[in-house]
Amino acid sequence: MNFKEKDPELWGAIAKEEERQEDTIELIASENIVSEAVRTAQGSVLTNKYAEGYPGKRYYGGTQYIDVVEQLAIDRAKKLFNAEYANVQPHSGSQANQAVYAAFLKPGDTILGMGLDAGGHLTHGAKVNFSGKIYNAYSYALNPETELLDYDMIRDLAKEVKPQMIVAGASAYSRIIDWNAFREIADEVGAYLMVDMAHIAGLVAAGLHPSPVGIADVVTTTTHKTLRGPRGGLILSQAENAKRINSAVFPGTQGGPLEHVIAGKAAAFFEDLQPDFTDYGKQIIENAHAMADEFSKAPTVRVVSGGTDNHLMTLDLSATTLNGKQAQELLDSVMITTNKEAIPNEKLSPFKTFGIRLGTPAVTTRGFNADECREVARLIVQTVLHPDDEASLQDVREKVHALTSAHPLSVLD
Ligand code: PLP
Repeated sequence: MNFKEKDPELWGAIAKEEERQEDTIELIASENIVSEAVRTAQGSVLTNKYAEGYPGKRYYGGTQYIDVVEQLAIDRAKKLFNAEYANVQPHSGSQANQAVYAAFLKPGDTILGMGLDAGGHLTHGAKVNFSGKIYNAYSYALNPETELLDYDMIRDLAKEVKPQMIVAGASAYSRIIDWNAFREIADEVGAYLMVDMAHIAGLVAAGLHPSPVGIADVVTTTTHKTLRGPRGGLILSQAENAKRINSAVFPGTQGGPLEHVIAGKAAAFFEDLQPDFTDYGKQIIENAHAMADEFSKAPTVRVVSGGTDNHLMTLDLSATTLNGKQAQELLDSVMITTNKEAIPNEKLSPFKTFGIRLGTPAVTTRGFNADECREVARLIVQTVLHPDDEASLQDVREKVHALTSAHPLSVLD
């Protein structure tokens, strides 16, 4: 009897998830679809191995091949981002950020990051997160008129709160971020500058968004979003910071590295270094532009800041009859996957919100072009503007099915 027959509960759920991914249009901006190479590396025997330490300096025997794998991941990450130093061990984006704070700050030091409802991440100082509990955290908002980062406002706040570290980068900001402006502010107040480029790292790697590497003191990212790798984290910096970051990751905040995931990172970085990864990045942006343009023609919905320069946008639904949670659930029912998202100056709780966040990395991997993304935007509008019209919802389901059937996931292997 094979393992799937012996444990049908588990393997049944995994098979159902495979079906769900096949049949839905995935618009969660932080998700992607990895290659067979990445999945195979992650499912390899490397999961059996303990390898505390770093290549050439381990606390366990039998690490000669693990060292080759981890060194490949390090060298490829450095090449991809033109960085002097890379640490590929963080288990996640949050753990990368935790290690960076531990490397550069003491508990109680002041950090200044982007607020959650402005589009920042929990680890940028939210009160419910370790970053807001261990550090004295302040947050900057967007300019209420333009819904853009306002570097004068950030400078004024930085002068007032005198942070030891400024955190730039976001989970839901659709415009180009000016790293040099952040650098100037950090220098004016004597702060370190950390950039968390988790969302846009793939666009940075493809040369489609300015790179913060070499401008910031330290750059963190996840590897599973636009980089299209396994779920995990990565830290980049100048060579002079290698020692303190290495020791903040291990033994500071983590134990044994997940070498099977690190192998997946090496496989993804190999793919990201190929010329067609730039074409992929360009298509992500073209698809996002097409969606934002289509939304701009629709009544009642509004794209925050009026458009996008990257892979994502937040759709403001406050003029419709739905909040973000209701829209997310309704879209789930027509096989379009999104997530509720705070809009600038959000009046509802994070469990409801007035917005939904939409991103194009996963559908672009699947092969959707700009015209198909326009159709997806029209289907979203049809859904949220006619939430009680069952015939209309059924019409959307059929059109979603036609799109997903035209782009089967199996072609990616
Ligand atoms: N940083 C940013 C900007 C993110 O958007 C995210 C996740 O969405 C993270 C960090 C955290 O990554 P993880 O979920 O791997 O902890």
